[in-house]
Amino acid sequence: MRLDPDQPVNIVGAGLAGALLALILARRGCAVRVCERRPDPRRTASERGRSINLALAARGIRALEHAGIMDQVRPLLIPMRGRAIHDRSGTVTVQPYGQRTDEVIYSVGRAPLNRMLIEQAALHQDVTIRFDQACLGAEPANDIVRFRNEISGGHYNLPLTPTIATDGAGSVVRRSLAAEKYLTVREEWLDHDYKELTLPPVSSRPALDPDALHIWPRGNFMLIALPNTDNSFTATLFLARTGTPSFASLSDPKAIREFFQEEFPDALPLMPDLPGQFAAHPTGQLATVHTSSWRVDGQVLLLGDAAHAIVPFHGQGMNAAFEDCWVLDQLLDRGESWEEVFREFETWRRPNTQAIAQMALENYTEMRDTVLDAGFVRRKSIALELERRFPTRFIPRYAMVMFHPEIPYAEALRRGSVQEEILMELDSRPDGTDFALAQKLISERLPALAPA
Ligand SMILES: Cc1cc2nc3c(=O)[nH]c(=O)nc-3n(C[C@H](O)[C@H](O)[C@H](O)COP(=O)(O)OP(=O)(O)OC[C@H]3O[C@@H](n4cnc5c(N)ncnc54)[C@H](O)[C@@H]3O)c2cc1C
Repeated sequence: MRLDPDQPVNIVGAGLAGALLALILARRGCAVRVCERRPDPRRTASERGRSINLALAARGIRALEHAGIMDQVRPLLIPMRGRAIHDRSGTVTVQPYGQRTDEVIYSVGRAPLNRMLIEQAALHQDVTIRFDQACLGAEPANDIVRFRNEISGGHYNLPLTPTIATDGAGSVVRRSLAAEKYLTVREEWLDHDYKELTLPPVSSRPALDPDALHIWPRGNFMLIALPNTDNSFTATLFLARTGTPSFASLSDPKAIREFFQEEFPDALPLMPDLPGQFAAHPTGQLATVHTSSWRVDGQVLLLGDAAHAIVPFHGQGMNAAFEDCWVLDQLLDRGESWEEVFREFETWRRPNTQAIAQMALENYTEMRDTVLDAGFVRRKSIALELERRFPTRFIPRYAMVMFHPEIPYAEALRRGSVQEEILMELDSRPDGTDFALAQKLISERLPALAPA
């Protein structure tokens, strides 16, 4: 598409998607005006209470490579080769994520990654980033987007067309469009909340094996921990809001200590001042956001969490938001107008983001519960063997999502359910895995994948 240099694109929110998108659009010669509600993170300490580190995987990496900034991102990454599962007795079992050495995911700090994306975007002469500017909503009928300067308190408007709203899960732009009946929104809240806790280094060494994502699965709840570059770990407790046990039942230091002693005895000594951290750190809520439409003509588009926030259990929200940026850029090569590009974007992305939303919810059950099940562990090892024998047809669903960006999320979901049926069939044989049958079922039901 031919971009008009006199028509800057507004980006609302300089979070992970907004900053990357600014960079990608500027690289194609587009003038970009980014407005962010928070102060400039290059000058201020990072915000507390938002997820501190995130898992970055192949879809996100593809977008960062496309933007030409992987060299700057790489020093921020810690590879995680598998899940380290902690049982109640403190025994740890490692389940590798994939079979190849490059099948790893990476822990990355949200604040340093966001700061680096902003720095890179700001280097472009075509990008203007204004901080302390809170968007108050979009008005397509008047073709304006409204802002408040958080320092002066002054209100002002910008021309709306075109605006891309990357203002996150609680998007004000989305809410304003819903209020004006351009779209409807359904927020599907989980009845489990989360709290982040820090595991500092022990004698300047990481408290846990830094090569893995640690999980303490306990059936109806779980603790996870990801490594940070300063040798600390950030743990997250996912637990029901009410009932027993729940965040409501962990109401005093004694209850918190007893709960951790009972459920996570090997993690408790690694968390000094657990009750203090518990009281000081906010409890976060989790939701899947379903939005009936992501756009108004060629005027405004929702992207990233603003369009399709998901629960974090597949570690894909940021990856999907980065993939959004990559897809939009591909569509700009073909589209004739913003309206066409926004329409194509929604048509292509919606089934895929719906698929990852579903898989993310399913993964919560897998992480906190099914990983403990003997049948699950058995089928996982059959799946790995099938992948070794039939690598162009059978790839475990987790690997399709995390390591194969060339397979769209919706296709990973579809093939994953066919594979699950095959695994169930093979696992029901009393005499071990019948690989001749496996070959027959796979060639009948799973067409060969196109080379990556
Ligand atoms: C506990 C937890 C763990 C997670 N773990 C992972 C993981 O391991 N891997 C992964 O891929 N994803 C993970 N995610 C999801 C990931 O955080 C999001 O998907 C990602 O941040 C989405 O990026 P975004 O740019 O769309 O939104 P955000 O990163 O939220 O950015 C939105 C930006 O908009 C700004 N903003 C908001 N409102 C306004 C306004 N009115 N005006 C102007 N600016 C505004 C905000 O200040 C912010 O800078 C996790 C999420 C949670 C909650």
